[in-house]
Amino acid sequence: MARTPSPKKRVEELRVLIRQHNNLYYGTDSPEISDAEYDALVRELQGLEAAHPELADANSPTEAVGAAVVTTFDPVVHAVPMTSLDNAMDEDELRAWGDRIVKGLGENSAQFVCELKIDGLAISIRYENGVLVQAATRGDGKVGEDVTANVATISSLPKKLSAKAPAVLEVRGEIYMSVAAFQKLKADREAENIERVAKGRAPLAVPVNPRNAGAGSLRQKDPTITAQRDLSLWSYQLGEVVGGPEFTSHHDTLEYLKSLGFPVNPEITLVNSLEDVIAFCRQWQERRHELGYEIDGAVVKVDNLAQREQLGFTSRAPRWAIAFKFPPEEKHTVLKDIHISVGRTGRVTPFAVLEPVFVGGSTVGMATLHNRDQVAAKDVRPGDTVVVRKAGDVIPEVVGPVLSKRPKNSQPWVFPTTCPCSVGSLLVKSEDQADTRCVEPSCPFQRDQRIIYFASRGGMDIEGLGERTVFALSDAGLVADVGDLYSLTVEQLLTLEGFAEMSAQNLVTSIQASRTRPLPKLLTALGIKHLGPAASDSLSSSFGTLDVIASASAEELSSVDGVGGVIAESIASWFAKPENKVVIEKLRNAGVEFGRVEISDQPQTLVGKAVVVTGTLSNYSREGAEAAIKSRGGKSPGSVSAKTFAVVLGESPGASKVTKAEQLGIPVLDEAGFEELLQTGELPSR
Ligand code: NAD
Repeated sequence: MARTPSPKKRVEELRVLIRQHNNLYYGTDSPEISDAEYDALVRELQGLEAAHPELADANSPTEAVGAAVVTTFDPVVHAVPMTSLDNAMDEDELRAWGDRIVKGLGENSAQFVCELKIDGLAISIRYENGVLVQAATRGDGKVGEDVTANVATISSLPKKLSAKAPAVLEVRGEIYMSVAAFQKLKADREAENIERVAKGRAPLAVPVNPRNAGAGSLRQKDPTITAQRDLSLWSYQLGEVVGGPEFTSHHDTLEYLKSLGFPVNPEITLVNSLEDVIAFCRQWQERRHELGYEIDGAVVKVDNLAQREQLGFTSRAPRWAIAFKFPPEEKHTVLKDIHISVGRTGRVTPFAVLEPVFVGGSTVGMATLHNRDQVAAKDVRPGDTVVVRKAGDVIPEVVGPVLSKRPKNSQPWVFPTTCPCSVGSLLVKSEDQADTRCVEPSCPFQRDQRIIYFASRGGMDIEGLGERTVFALSDAGLVADVGDLYSLTVEQLLTLEGFAEMSAQNLVTSIQASRTRPLPKLLTALGIKHLGPAASDSLSSSFGTLDVIASASAEELSSVDGVGGVIAESIASWFAKPENKVVIEKLRNAGVEFGRVEISDQPQTLVGKAVVVTGTLSNYSREGAEAAIKSRGGKSPGSVSAKTFAVVLGESPGASKVTKAEQLGIPVLDEAGFEELLQTGELPSR
């Protein structure tokens, strides 16, 4: 019988899982689980944290908004934080929120503004003296990404306001891709894929839904691509305003936004009671597909701004608003077959090939089945009629078979024992995990995924070397591993379809330029199992060069903060493999720098010192504090140990970190002490 993990262990597991999904969803616009599954994880964590206050941690994802910004764009510190929204999953939760409002406001009754919850990407757009000067994503709520050039391509957005505009006006809203724009993008991709497949080339990824396509389009490095994607905006809120009119109600601010030429959703309704709120939610749950854009719920806001002040905020969301999330939509369809895909570390993922079905606003033809155990637990079989759910309208999920419709001669699906690639190596299930892996590193599927990962933004960030180019290079036999990239020539690229002199030259130039990436990027790019950017960072600062890391024992590697035994073993065994030694030599011969450090213009006051930050600081975001420590040569591990030099305490610090610091007698600093430490490298004398 499976053992239930202790609450502490489960809380830790959930925090790791939720952070991983946050990074996929917010960082790369490529979620791997449905919103409903994600929400279920968050709810489970919230439940455990409420039941076990001793496990509270200010760094828990339940306390945070979104995810840290990725480094593709410049950071923008929000003048007024961009919060998230608390959720109501059903009418009972909505009524409970209504009760809390009544309690919070005493005798005074509230009016509510009911809005559609647009399934897009939150944006803050700043105008100074009527001119658009900056647009930023929400990021972690305090620091977002500067996407001004991309936002400026949105045709419905005024770029210049009338003369009566205030000195500073920050407009907030949701950027989204309309269903029509999404369908056009998808149809163009599919048409291109038919041609590609006919010519024997790998198809391009087809966008899954308007939310991801919209977010991906907004976060393009090249704004001319964003311009082609036809993004739209609904504005629904003011941020910082200097020199503007005074308002008493939310409804008036929306009218003001309209008067300045901003698009405000026409369905927004002011109502007098919670019953009217519920009627609004029910109505739009029924009619959601009548709109030309996707919504995943309704947002209900207290209208009166003074009442809002009375109700206030939690650490991540206002108390005066709630998002009512629509339940997932389900449909029946036939599961035609189950196929598998192979990832970069050989992990095998089964997926369902479905008779295309229209569910949750788009047509679904494929759905992940996650792993061998999931297929077995659901017992879905080719030929079955299955329930398909589009939860939170992101990723389709096969819920299970409709047993009454199962064909008579149906047999359970058997997980393949060999990889479908040309090598046909064994697929092995790991004893302690749900994963099945292809164990042959020369498997072409794995190889292609490794090269894609190497070139990706988090790795060597090679502009122009995306999935399709990697498949083309690999099909043509031009690259067998990442080391071969550096010897590619313009002449070779010109033999590939789709390359012209200019694009071939550009790719060679960007590959060569990647040779000077800092060591943590190079180390991450190698795609070693379990090794992520944080551990790569710590290893790079501790060991200095790739050669030292390559020759270190697992024990030596695991002595570094943030590098556990599993990661250390994985690194040591990766570098011990002859085929990987060959790759390293190819990289060396190509002139890839093995010990590049990021140059910092800050005084190196913290070299060799580990400073742990816990809780919220007022002048630094979490990432900002870490960056400040690292730029001064220090380390900023996630946990307190005997090697920690100091612990910086912000507001609502993690209880376990404080206790550990006390037990080990580690100096504890406030924010002013932290500033002094950054400047001098010394503990404050006070
Ligand atoms: P949220 O989406 O539940 O609500 C907050 C957001 O709603 C705001 O930031 C804003 O962008 C948006 N919004 C749309 N219309 C609005 C309106 N009229 N007024 C105000 N805001 C409006 O919360 P979140 O913090 O953005 O994201 C959490 C949600 O994102 C999860 O509940 C889940 O659905 C999804 N998510 C999914 C994954 C995954 O892996 N599938 C991972 C992370 C987050």
